Amino acid sequence: MRIIPVTFLLLYDFCPRRLFLEQVLGSPPEPRPKLLLGRVRHFAHTKLHSWESQVLPGVTLPVNPYRITDLYKRHNHKVLQNAIIAHKSQLTAHNFSLIETYKTLWPGVIYESQDRANKVIAYLSRQEKLSSDWFDDFSPKLSHELMLSSVTLRLSGVVDRVSAKRDERTLIELKTGKMPEEGAWRSHRLQLAAYALLYRTIRGERPRAAVRYLDARHDRDVDVSDQTDAWVLTVKTDVEQLLASTELPRFVDNRKKCMVCPHKLVCYDEEQVRALHKERFA
Ligand code: SF4
Repeated sequence: MRIIPVTFLLLYDFCPRRLFLEQVLGSPPEPRPKLLLGRVRHFAHTKLHSWESQVLPGVTLPVNPYRITDLYKRHNHKVLQNAIIAHKSQLTAHNFSLIETYKTLWPGVIYESQDRANKVIAYLSRQEKLSSDWFDDFSPKLSHELMLSSVTLRLSGVVDRVSAKRDERTLIELKTGKMPEEGAWRSHRLQLAAYALLYRTIRGERPRAAVRYLDARHDRDVDVSDQTDAWVLTVKTDVEQLLASTELPRFVDNRKKCMVCPHKLVCYDEEQVRALHKERFA
């Protein structure tokens, strides 16, 4: 049986017709250059601090807060540069200046660098002596882009970041764009619920979950429980049924979603949809 990516659950939850158009009829989403900056930012932030385990063990006492902060800024500057270079051809194709992209994204990197440096400085300030393996005891440790895949669940996905503090693990998704007044957006809750279920199935322990809203510079905890497990499994079953179906789902009830949908041009073009359907199932 096919392993379903968590992103399919999110597409289905947004609009079943969208998932059908994209994954069953093979209609590609319209390119959305406006989202490119967000993608570069997300790419960079999933890799920030990934150099820590190579660099931090070389730090010695007495702690120099400026030096630690500078270390974070220098290394994360390189991470951002590399993220921009990795997207160079897409950015230039859509007339984004590489320097302006850097200037736009740098303040967020500085914020994350300072936030993380403060944690290291606080830890080091509490130490009287520092062994060569001090970094092994430091927490929270961060790991990035953790792949989770379960044949039992027939589900897979990649978590942006995992924070480990003693026995506690927190799955963190990094999100650009507006933060809701309270809690997290529905799609972000569903995504983290799916990752938490995967994590528990694979590792046998239920993690905590949170969204880091990069623009708002704020973390929001997300509840994961037996109830959210059931929600994920229901959506996953619906997705499997849709992927095995030949029937185009109806338009979404909330038509405001269509305004931001990357399939709107095809979706409302009956002739094109009929042709795609015929091509796929004839
Ligand atoms: S345009 Fe509207 S109805 Fe069509 S796939 Fe997108 S969200 Fe669904």
